[in-house]
Amino acid sequence: MSNKSFQDYNQPDKGGHYGPYGGKFVPETLIPVLAELETVYRDALKDESFVREFDGLMKDYVGRPSPLYYAERLTKALGGPEIYLKREDLCHTGAHKINNALGQVLLAKRMGKKRIIAETGAGQHGVATATVAARFGMECVVYMGEVDMQRQALNVYRMRLMGTEVRPVTAGQRTLKEAVSEAIRDWVANSRTTHYILGSALGPHPFPMMVRDFQSCIGREARAQILEKTGCLPDLLVACVGGGSNSIGLFHPFIKDESVRMVGVEAGGRGFAIGEHAARFSGGRLGILQGNRSYVLQDENGQIALTHSISAGLDYAAVGPEHAFLNDIKRVEYERVSDDEALEGFKALSRLEGIIPALESSHAVGWALKAFPSLKKGSLAIINISGRGDKDIDQIRERLHV
Ligand SMILES: *Cc1c(COP(=O)(O)O)cnc(C)c1O
Repeated sequence: MSNKSFQDYNQPDKGGHYGPYGGKFVPETLIPVLAELETVYRDALKDESFVREFDGLMKDYVGRPSPLYYAERLTKALGGPEIYLKREDLCHTGAHKINNALGQVLLAKRMGKKRIIAETGAGQHGVATATVAARFGMECVVYMGEVDMQRQALNVYRMRLMGTEVRPVTAGQRTLKEAVSEAIRDWVANSRTTHYILGSALGPHPFPMMVRDFQSCIGREARAQILEKTGCLPDLLVACVGGGSNSIGLFHPFIKDESVRMVGVEAGGRGFAIGEHAARFSGGRLGILQGNRSYVLQDENGQIALTHSISAGLDYAAVGPEHAFLNDIKRVEYERVSDDEALEGFKALSRLEGIIPALESSHAVGWALKAFPSLKKGSLAIINISGRGDKDIDQIRERLHV
């Protein structure tokens, strides 16, 4: 594909590849399970009753469409583009994760599976999964690294309140990567009865495609909303990139609109040394982690690197394969924002707009603080506020001493 035209963008291929990225790198026993999932998913999309149930719950249970809000005071403060915020923080459970969890629980139901498992980092995906499992009366186990359980104690309790068992993972760095490994292990052993609701645009095909499709409501709504409010397409989209689901959800419906610039913001952490950040595009290279090929942070021997971010949801060594491809074809730019810069974003949005964002989303705002003052005044920007900040309050209190 030429770098100039994205009109024929159509990813992934039949095998789930996005150029050299993606695919299915899983134990043999999961190959037929993934094939079944893909078939059921493709059939469901063509089934009117499935689509009607999904759309109905998105509206009345999740609260979609989420608003597109004109951030007047943030716009004035930065003096650049007119800033619109896509308010995924207002979704049921407080983040975009519920969009995907709802889609996948309906697929589990369609497959006749009664047990749900998931992994979680920030706890938001665990909460979203616990929520839909309760809604559909399914047994639910969520794997979570011990360190993340401490960082996100509120979300652990929310999951338990809804009847989910949260299993602490004590291996390795005790964060998201180890939790994903445990969830995959459980799935290999129990796939006949169990569906694994993977939480980001990651893992083996068809997950990156399916998660993207379930999250693309963000971009489809944003597109219609900004056209209605301004009569124009946006000039710029900004979203934070952990595994890559809220960002691909916003970006995907705009990929063919070549006038729309897109920026994905990764966790720059405390510095540039390996282990101090989770910026896969500035520090990673081609590798395989947990089911697919993508940009992966690794040491010179190919060992998966340690990562750091102030936000658990961005703290992961790999990035979704479609982002790796979008980076290669230069359709999306990937930038890094440090812990401190994210905190500036957190403070700015809280004080200027009365919106307390998740630390993940604060990275997108943090980039805007740096970049927007030198961008064209009057142009249109959309920042995705992927979640609300309640879950991060204890951590914030330690850092900001407000
Ligand atoms: C999980 C999470 C993220 C990061 O995950 P993506 O798949 O990259 O979207 C970002 N923001 C919030 C609020 C989250 O909960």
